This record gives sequence, structure tokens and C-alpha cells, in this order.
Amino acid sequence: AAMRHLPYFCRGKVVKGFGRGSRELGIPTANFSEQVVESFPSDISTGIYYGWACVGNGDVHKMVLSIGWNPFYKNIKKSVETHIIHTFKEDFYGEILSIVITGYIRPEKNFDSLEALISAIQEDIEEAKRQLDLPEHLKLKEDNFFHLPEGEIVNH
Ligand code: ADP
Ligand code: MG
Repeated sequence: AAMRHLPYFCRGKVVKGFGRGSRELGIPTANFSEQVVESFPSDISTGIYYGWACVGNGDVHKMVLSIGWNPFYKNIKKSVETHIIHTFKEDFYGEILSIVITGYIRPEKNFDSLEALISAIQEDIEEAKRQLDLPEHLKLKEDNFFHLPEGEIVNH
């Protein structure tokens, strides 16, 4: 069921979240605006996904993504957060993030400790890196979507 909407193409502005990704986990996650999240299929499964991402007209990098329940909205709205597997020199709030989600890793889980959460995310990142090297995922890195003019949203 999680795979039904994949590959999923999405483009939108990076907005401020709670600042928890970097501060608590050491893993920054670029948040999409509420409007972009609302444009996702309402029946898309929450959980951890992977795919490709690019900021502005920059290079295309591997990413892991979480679709989860947003505590700010008392868990009635989803949030979509992308961790790009690349070290950026600076933050990129306000820039256009383009992503294609190509695969699903696991559902959302609760963890007993911050350490357990961080190690699960590290495993997700390793899994994403491996999967994205497979031809069926690798081919989407070269998709024309990443070379289209800003502002256009394309979904298949
Ligand atoms: P917020 O709660 O505002 O999303 P985070 O602590 O999750 O804050 O950090 C996310 C921000 O960090 C992104 O919006 C982006 O500007 C910046 N950033 C820097 N490197 C990365 C990266 N590799 N992946 C995602 N975001 C990154
Ligand atoms: Mg974040």
C-alpha cells in the first residue's frame, strides 16, 4: 500500500519546522509547507521513505524522508521532512526543494530512547543508500523533473 503512489514527484518551498532535527538528533530535515503536504495523496502511508532530492538548481542527492503526524497540529495533519544525504555549507530555508520518492523503508515507530531513534535513522540512511544504487531507483536520479523550470509540479 505504501508503494502505490511511487514514484512520487514533489516540489515546494522549504519552511521552518521545530528545529528539532538538527538540535536533538544531529540530522537536519527540510520541512515542506502545510500547503505542499496537503497536496500529497491523503491515503499515502506514514513512515520512512527514500529517493532523490535537489535544492534549487543544485545537484541531485540521495535522501531519506519521513511522512509523519505533526504534533503542532495535534497529530491531525501530516508533516513531510526530507533529510538530504549530503553536507551543505548553509541552511536553505525558503529555497525550492525538488524530490522524487522512489521507495519505502518502514512505518513510523516509537522509540524508548533518543539513542535508539538516532540509530534507527542511521540504519534507514544506510538502507536508502544501498537501495538507491539499484538500477530501478538510480534511473530516477536522471529524471527530467530535476531539470524543469522552478514552479512546475509534475506527478505521474
Ligand atoms: P526545522 O525544524 O526548521 O526543519 P531542522 O533542525 O530539521 O530544522 O533543520 C532543517 C534545515 O537544515 C533545513 O530546512 C535546511 O535549511 C537545513 N539543512 C542543512 N543541511 C541539510 C540536509 N542535509 N538535509 C536537510 N536539511 C538540511
Ligand atoms: Mg526539520
